[in-house]
Amino acid sequence: MDNDIEKVLYSRDEIAGAAKRLGKELTRDYAGRQPLVISVLKGAILFTVDVLKEFDVYADIDFVDVSSYHGGTESSGKVDLVREISSDIKGRDIILVEDIIDTGRTLKYLIQLLEEKGAHDVKVCTLLDKPEGRVVDVKADYVGFNVPNEFVVGYGLDYNELYRNLPYVGILKPSVYQK
Ligand code: 5GP
Ligand code: MG
Ligand code: MG
Repeated sequence: MDNDIEKVLYSRDEIAGAAKRLGKELTRDYAGRQPLVISVLKGAILFTVDVLKEFDVYADIDFVDVSSYHGGTESSGKVDLVREISSDIKGRDIILVEDIIDTGRTLKYLIQLLEEKGAHDVKVCTLLDKPEGRVVDVKADYVGFNVPNEFVVGYGLDYNELYRNLPYVGILKPSVYQK
């Protein structure tokens, strides 16, 4: 897999450091509350585990699965709900954990869904933010790294379902998706 990567952006250690920092911030901000942590499948799984290990607060955990890419490197613009949230959302403080915010469409869709279900508050914790990609007006509250406007993979992020298990985040060689 390493041969398909043009450049490593964030090493395993840098990601661990960011997750630790965010977990500590969340611990401070959510002291005395009991938030529901919702991890957005599949991309956020590795990062969610890292953040949770640093999050020292009573919390329950759930998952939601959405899809907007359908295999390419450009967002399709349409968000599909692949797996519903099973927890009761009403009145809850929600921490949504994402891999990356690009256009912001996925996040906007999820925030609306949670608000319709009666969430009291929704905050967003993301490993990566690509502010240049933004098409709709949403923002993340806890950000690991701001990334340049390139297609990145690794640490949960895929290209055609591959590279999620790379232990770092890197830029994929264009030759891989131009094949
Ligand atoms: P948005 O709806 O903000 O455009 O995109 C959100 C989703 O698109 C992310 O959760 C992620 O799954 C995917 N995505 C956006 N940018 C990238 C990228 O650079 N690399 C990969 N692998 N996925 C991305
Ligand atoms: Mg995602
Ligand atoms: Mg994807």
